[in-house]
Amino acid sequence: MAIADVTSLKHLLSHSSTFTIPARAFTEDYNNWTNYALTTPKAVVKTTNESDIQTVVKFASEHNLRVSVRGGGHSVFNSCDGIILDLAGWDEVVYDDGDNTIRFRPGALNGKVMEVAGGRGRCVMSGTCNTVGMTSLYLGGGLGPLAPKLGMAIDSLLSARLITASGELLTVSPESNPEVFHILAGAGQTLGVVTEMQIKTYPLNETLNTTDETVFFASMTFPASRIAEVANFLSSAKWDENTAVYLLLVSPPEGGAPLFIFTVNYYGNDEDAKRVLKGLYDLKPIAETAKRVPYVRMNDHSEGSGERGEFKRMTGVGLKRVNVEGLKGMVEALENLLSAGGDLGKSCVLLEFLGMGVARKSSVGVYPHRDIDIWCIPVPWYSLPENHASAEKFCRDVRKAAKRGDVREDMVVYSGFRAGDEKPEELWGSKETADKIAEMKASQFDVSVITN
Ligand SMILES: Cc1cc2nc3c(=O)[nH]c(=O)nc-3n(C[C@H](O)[C@H](O)[C@H](O)COP(=O)(O)OP(=O)(O)OC[C@H]3O[C@@H](n4cnc5c(N)ncnc54)[C@H](O)[C@@H]3O)c2cc1C
Repeated sequence: MAIADVTSLKHLLSHSSTFTIPARAFTEDYNNWTNYALTTPKAVVKTTNESDIQTVVKFASEHNLRVSVRGGGHSVFNSCDGIILDLAGWDEVVYDDGDNTIRFRPGALNGKVMEVAGGRGRCVMSGTCNTVGMTSLYLGGGLGPLAPKLGMAIDSLLSARLITASGELLTVSPESNPEVFHILAGAGQTLGVVTEMQIKTYPLNETLNTTDETVFFASMTFPASRIAEVANFLSSAKWDENTAVYLLLVSPPEGGAPLFIFTVNYYGNDEDAKRVLKGLYDLKPIAETAKRVPYVRMNDHSEGSGERGEFKRMTGVGLKRVNVEGLKGMVEALENLLSAGGDLGKSCVLLEFLGMGVARKSSVGVYPHRDIDIWCIPVPWYSLPENHASAEKFCRDVRKAAKRGDVREDMVVYSGFRAGDEKPEELWGSKETADKIAEMKASQFDVSVITN
């Protein structure tokens, strides 16, 4: 479609929306978490107006243009060669004192929703990074440090307003359009455009097992050379619903051999936390910290992970078990990557250990991986495009290594951590579910319009 024709869309929009045709190739100025796979669109519409969103998707349908939606800007899937619907600035978060729910708009970020809830003595199921978009996190299923207590994010989802690719505005909830709700909760990222979500909140102190709205937070560092001890600990560790454990395999800023850094949230008092973590303390970390952190500051330790710009990807794989072979392979993959050049030093592998006992009791939505308690996520991070190939190899090598230690043979991928080239059954658990999702999207929604 010629640019002059796209310009005709501008005249169909209200004055509250901004219509822009990018003056040059789309790169750094997008302020995305990553510049990897950024595609220059024909136009960007920045809006806070449902009726304009309806106009955009209808226009795109009629002119056979693709649309991609941008919320928090933390994925590689928010640009296309058609129209970008940029909803980043539409970030109202409203607390309802009547029923203790929160409604948020599509640009609302994780940290802001936590702050609004925390300000009322409540908490929400959210992710680990304050700058991730809350809507998309919920659309994918939603993992996070409170998952062991509250289940998946979709278990807290009450309703959503959804604009389909034909421009229809639906209220979607277990009561209203329940079949659409089922797909939206877990496979919702290409279903349409969500303009609002309503979620549950929970009493803060009761959920965190405390009286002062704080969480016990510890970090412990080990040289990666102690793989066997770390793996041995992980294979016998039994975490209860009060513990969320993250393990980062990273190169120190000054260079040198990689390190394992555990960060742990414990929901309870310090004595119980230290008892639960005794196995790790007994391994004598080379560095450790322990402190109580207010709920609303709970994610601050991972602030760096949300930094925008440069090239990064997240391509996670779900695991039932990690063993020494798996960890060794991950360390080797990181060492090989680092030896490729001087620009890859911020790359890492993140392992998340989030007990899904509570999540397994729920069957909300189509999210298929409630049996998976461990996620392994390689994150290559660099600024020079010539490192793309090494970065891709790193992602493949880490996934392969992680599977070496696993007891489950098939590849399991969470849509929030997808690379984009997975088989449908890897994302959706089975061919049957994948077909059902595809069928729903094709029958009710024009998937060729809402892309990615
Ligand atoms: C640093 C980092 C930390 C992360 N931590 C977690 C975590 O703790 N838990 C977890 O579950 N996931 C986590 N993720 C994954 C994250 O949830 C997904 O990448 C998510 O898609 C990012 O959403 P966004 O709005 O920030 O990104 P965007 O790139 O803006 O959006 C991603 C995609 O979601 C869809 N989308 C966004 N908004 C809408 C909307 N309003 N309507 C319809 N579709 C929409 C679009 O398809 C879009 O392309 C993390 C990702 C990063 C980069």
